[in-house]
Amino acid sequence: MSVLACDRRSCPNVMCDRLILDGTRYICNECWQELLEYKETWQPPMTALEIENKIREFMGTSPGTHKAVETECDIDAEFRRLTGQDKHHLFKHHTSTPDDYNP
Ligand SMILES: [Zn+2]
Repeated sequence: MSVLACDRRSCPNVMCDRLILDGTRYICNECWQELLEYKETWQPPMTALEIENKIREFMGTSPGTHKAVETECDIDAEFRRLTGQDKHHLFKHHTSTPDDYNP
């Protein structure tokens, strides 16, 4: 009880004062806010067990992975980040893409 580290996978935050899952897991404020965003994407009807499983699943993921992405633009940005497309211009291995088009 002395460290109060966030129990989410690979989250480095400590000094968490929020307990979830019947007091068995600490969660930091950043992860808590992300969990709330994630919750907004859940669709009823859900069973209590499904909700618990979603929270457990969330705690097993890395910070940032369940951030709610609401606009098409944000989805695009996240997609490019996850597929490395935002760094595409650094590599130049596809010569026929619009990135390499120089008017
Ligand atoms: Zn955390």
